[in-house]
Amino acid sequence: MDIVLAVAQRGEGILKLTAAPVADDEFGSAWLRGLADAMQATMLARSGVGIAAPQVYVSKRVIIVASRPNLRYPDAPDMEAVVMVNPEILRFSDDCLLGEEGCLSVPDQRGQVARAAQIQLRYFTLDGVQVVTAFSGFPARIVQHEVDHLNGVLFVERLST
Ligand code: ZN
Repeated sequence: MDIVLAVAQRGEGILKLTAAPVADDEFGSAWLRGLADAMQATMLARSGVGIAAPQVYVSKRVIIVASRPNLRYPDAPDMEAVVMVNPEILRFSDDCLLGEEGCLSVPDQRGQVARAAQIQLRYFTLDGVQVVTAFSGFPARIVQHEVDHLNGVLFVERLST
């Protein structure tokens, strides 16, 4: 049975920390896999399209990106959920797109945020395999939102008014 975790809410200190990288000896561990499973279950239970470990009170650099159509984002493209460990955005496109964002940690608030339209990204799988890839549009927006969580930043700090 999947464990659904409590989600940290805006104002809590864990959301303001810079999360620590996953260490070499943590890759492939039952602990890391269990964390990813619980994050995914928690994200799905809340109809989220992404989640970052600090949102479930674990200050580690792990995110899940799972763009898919759902109640909150009916127009989202469908993609397999991707667990990204120690993600690093290598390049941001110059062109930005304005789009609406929400957050499991900021219920009842949504807002327009400018994000790079395309990004190049490096991350590691749960087993420590390095992946370099590119995202554009809504999935790129999710990655930027989740990486912000790893650096203690919430979307409400980036609102375009
Ligand atoms: Zn969020």
